[in-house]
Amino acid sequence: MKSARKGIAVSGGVAFGNAYLLDRSKVCVIKRTLHSDEIDDEIMRLREAIQKSKEELQSIKSRASSIADKYSIILDTYTLLLEDEILVNETIDTIKQQKVNAEWALTHTLEKFTRLFNKINDDYLKGKKDDLELVVHGVIKNLIGHHQESLQDIDEPVVIITHELSPSDTLLMSKNYILGLATEVGGRTSHLGIFASALGIPALVGVTDLTQHVNSGDMIIIDAIEGEIIIKPNEEQVLHYRKKQQNYLLYEKALLKDVNLSSETLDGRAIHIMANIESVQEAKTARKYGGEGVGLYRTELLYMGRESLPNENDLYLNFKKVAREMDPYPVVIRTLDIGADKQLNKINDASEDNPALGLRGIRLSLVNPDMLISQMKAILRASFYGKIKILYPMISTLEELTEANKLLKKAKKELKRAQIPFDNDIEVGAMIETPAAALALEHLLGEVDFISIGTNDLIQYVLAVDRTNENVAYLYQPFHPAILKLLKDIFVLANARGKPVSICGEMGGDPMATLLLLGLGEIQELSMEPHSIPKVKKILRKVTIAEAKILADKALTMATAKEINQFISEEMRNRFPTDFDRNMVFEEKSS
Ligand code: PEP
Ligand code: MG
Repeated sequence: MKSARKGIAVSGGVAFGNAYLLDRSKVCVIKRTLHSDEIDDEIMRLREAIQKSKEELQSIKSRASSIADKYSIILDTYTLLLEDEILVNETIDTIKQQKVNAEWALTHTLEKFTRLFNKINDDYLKGKKDDLELVVHGVIKNLIGHHQESLQDIDEPVVIITHELSPSDTLLMSKNYILGLATEVGGRTSHLGIFASALGIPALVGVTDLTQHVNSGDMIIIDAIEGEIIIKPNEEQVLHYRKKQQNYLLYEKALLKDVNLSSETLDGRAIHIMANIESVQEAKTARKYGGEGVGLYRTELLYMGRESLPNENDLYLNFKKVAREMDPYPVVIRTLDIGADKQLNKINDASEDNPALGLRGIRLSLVNPDMLISQMKAILRASFYGKIKILYPMISTLEELTEANKLLKKAKKELKRAQIPFDNDIEVGAMIETPAAALALEHLLGEVDFISIGTNDLIQYVLAVDRTNENVAYLYQPFHPAILKLLKDIFVLANARGKPVSICGEMGGDPMATLLLLGLGEIQELSMEPHSIPKVKKILRKVTIAEAKILADKALTMATAKEINQFISEEMRNRFPTDFDRNMVFEEKSS
């Protein structure tokens, strides 16, 4: 048996195909000294190469699939980098002063910028450095006449193997030609995973040294259920994985068939299963997968990749579209949650030493009240066209809530004065994602109509584990006893006051956690990435609250996350062998 290499599965399924090694290597730049009379032509050559890069970006943008729309704004950011005067002028100065060729001068400028970036200890700016590098290398390839391979060049079905895929690469992914893909770098929440799963392409990231072990044309199997890649499999492996692939497809098909069935437990408790979205397009996906509304509309992308902030009307039109798309179901719109892992330098200062504990979420909105009011007015105006609720992120004090509600009142007053219709009784919720909000919840409940538990941040803050840091990923434990205890306490308080509870962090969409969450307290709503909806709904329909309580009570007595994990995973595998079968060895009936 050929041994498999491990990776992180970011989009489920099994793929077979020949490898296509996508070259993302950098080119070698040679220095050439110019005569004085060549300088003008060299500057012209530089400008033409930059123009060509811009046209390439625009062409990628126009060819990007509609699903990629929301990410195509990233390409605008790249175009802006190409228009950066410092970048262009520095390079022209080097050509003139040192009398060197354009590619050499451009490399020189890039090195200068890189040195500057390296001195700054900030992840956001480091990300900008990578963008700049990517863009400059595109121009250098144009200067040299080296054709940059793109996913668009592929004209037969293959499995993509590469070091890394840039956002512009992913925008060109087509399901017709890309059977599966695996990259050496990338994390669980990378844009690649979002795209691949939207297109149904099995994908792995983080497969170390992969490109050293694969040649173009090698037969590849990607098992994005287990998180493995098999290079040049033998016959036995091919048979095994073919069966696994068929079974997985049958399983997915069966799930989609039942997508519009109710989400009610066997003993009659109805739980609303909602979608987390970031764009209008995703509202459509939410409906396709049986979402009964939007439990979390993250609005940050609407502010990113543009030269100026969106105005009230831009936002209103967007929110109205989502409200109409989801009608008659509710849509929970979260006010801007910029900061920490979602930076936006037009609004915040990305140079904070500790951005996760800095000016993020509602804190940032409250120091920019005009921006918050403009967003609130947009949400209110859209509330005339559907059932819309408003949600505040990163609440950690009562004062923040009262201040936000005061601004909401002001926004309503301004709309009334302008005779613009809106839902005056719009429901207001707070994200419970800081330990402070969870521990002092009783004092916050008076200010809200509902709460939404953001387990992604709550886990990171309670366990003191950066949710984006691979080095401490093993400590990021949703089933840690401290998390279960805190969740239980939140339920006790909110349930006693009759305030509806939603869970919108990843834990809410993890089918492995569904039964446990149901047993911890009374949940009104679970909100998740649309593709998880059918799986969670299926589990809900087959359990009772009574058995969920027994399971949760037992888990609450356990001392370690390992013990709880083992217990929950055994219980779930016994109850739902098909849904948690990583080998998909079940014999599915064809009916
Ligand atoms: C969360 O923290 O759980 C959450 C849903 O918000 P985000 O992932 O956008 O921070
Ligand atoms: Mg959060």
